[in-house]
Amino acid sequence: MIIKHNVILNHLLVKSFLTAFEYSLSSLVITDANDSADGEQFLYANQAFVNQTGYSFDELKGKSPRMLQGPKTDKALLKALNTSIYGGDTFVGQTINYRKDGSEYIARWSITPIKDDNGHILAFVSNQIEVSNQFLNLNTAKILAEALNQTADAVLVTDLLGYVIYSNASFYKLTGYTPDELLGKHTRIFKSGKMEPESYRQLWLSLIENKSFEGLFTNKHKDGTDYFEYKTITPILDEHQRPMYYLAISRDATQATQAMDKLSYLAHHDELTGLYNRAKFNLILTQKRAAFQQAGHAFSLILGDIDDFKKINDIYGHDTGDKVLKSVADKLTNSVRHDDFVARWGGEEFVILVDNDLDAAMKVAQTLVRNMATTDTSGAIAEPVSLSFGVATYTENMTLEHLFEQADQALYRAKADGKNCARSLITR
Ligand code: GH3
Ligand code: MG
Ligand code: MG
Repeated sequence: MIIKHNVILNHLLVKSFLTAFEYSLSSLVITDANDSADGEQFLYANQAFVNQTGYSFDELKGKSPRMLQGPKTDKALLKALNTSIYGGDTFVGQTINYRKDGSEYIARWSITPIKDDNGHILAFVSNQIEVSNQFLNLNTAKILAEALNQTADAVLVTDLLGYVIYSNASFYKLTGYTPDELLGKHTRIFKSGKMEPESYRQLWLSLIENKSFEGLFTNKHKDGTDYFEYKTITPILDEHQRPMYYLAISRDATQATQAMDKLSYLAHHDELTGLYNRAKFNLILTQKRAAFQQAGHAFSLILGDIDDFKKINDIYGHDTGDKVLKSVADKLTNSVRHDDFVARWGGEEFVILVDNDLDAAMKVAQTLVRNMATTDTSGAIAEPVSLSFGVATYTENMTLEHLFEQADQALYRAKADGKNCARSLITR
C-alpha cells in the first residue's frame, strides 16, 4: 500500500484519486450499502458511467443501480453478487444492463465493499467496462483488416509525407513489394519517370483541398518494368476535417492500357510491316493538299509495287513472302528522308508522299529503285527483291483520285517497261 501516514501526502493522494476517478475511461460508481427492498443508492458516478448509461448524475443520484437492470439481466448472478459483497468480498462478473434509451450492453464489473474500522460495510465501489463495445470494436477491426487484405483492389495507406503505413495483398500482386517490404518506404520508389508533371500537380491540388483524385498512373514494378494502375487517392480526415493519411485504391490497368495502345496503334498502322496504313495515308494526303492550297507547298505521290511477288509466294511460301514484305517496308523507310511519309497501301503495294515537285520526286523514286534491287537485308530469300514505281505530282484543282490515277498509270508504265524502274506520265 503506497499511502503513508503523512497528512500532506494523504491529502495529495486523495485529491489525485478523486481526479483519477472522475476522468477514468472505465465507469466508476459508488453506492451506499443498503440491502433493503429499495436497494443501494448511487452516491457517485463518474463521467464515463454517465456517458455509458445515458443518465446524468442528477438522474442517478439517490436511485438504485437496479434501474439499469432489465429482462435479460442475470438474476442468479445478482444474487451471487449480493451474497459476495455483503459477505465482505469483491465480486467480479458480467451481465446485460440497459441504458436510458433502452439499448442493451454487457457490463463487466468488479464490485468491492468499503468497510469501517469495525468491519461494517459502508459503501461499494464498482468499476466496470463495457464488454460488448470492446468485443464489437475488436471484431470490426479484425473484419475490416481481413476485408482490406482480401479485396481485389490494391490498397495503400501513407502518411501525409508519402511514407507507407499499410499495403494489402493485392498491392503486392500489382507492385511486387510485400507489405513488410513497403512499410516505412516512400512512395517515390514507384515513380517510373513517365508521368506528366502536370498529373502530379493536379493530384496535389486535389489533395490540398481535401478532395480525392482519380487517374491513370504509369508506375514502376519492383522488377523494374512499368505497370499501369487506375488509382483513386483520398485524404482520410480527422473530426476537424484535417488530413491524417492518404488512402490509395488501385486496379491494374496494364492490360487495358496495352489493349488501348494497340488499338490506337492499329488505327494508323499496318500490323505486319509497322508502316502507316491507308487510313493514316488518307489523312496525310488531305493535309498535304490543304498545305498546297494555302501555301503552294508542292508534293508528289510515289506508288510502289513489288515485282513478281506472286513468284516469291509460290516458291518460298506465304510466310516467307510476309518476311520479304516486312524487309521491303524497312528498306523503304530507311531509303527516304525522315519527313517523307511511307505507308502500306495494301498487298505488296506501298505509297510514299514527298514534299517535292515531279523532277525531285522522280529522283527519290530512282534512288528507291537502286536501293531496293541491290540490297537484300531480309535474309529470307537469296535473290534481291525489286520494286517498280509510278510517280505523280499534285497540280492545282486536281482531285486526289486523279492524282492517284496518274501514279497508278505511271506504275503500269514502269511494269510495262520491264519492271525495276520508276516512271511518271511526263518523263520517260
Ligand atoms: P507484278 O510484278 O506485275 O507486280 O507481279 P506480281 O506477282 O507482284 O503481281 P501482283 O502485284 O498482282 O500480285 C501481288 C501478290 O502479292 C498477290 C498476293 O498473293 C501477294 N500478296 C498480297 N498481300 C500479301 C501479303 O500480305 N503477304 C504475302 N505473303 N503475299 C501477299
Ligand atoms: Mg500488286
Ligand atoms: Mg507486284
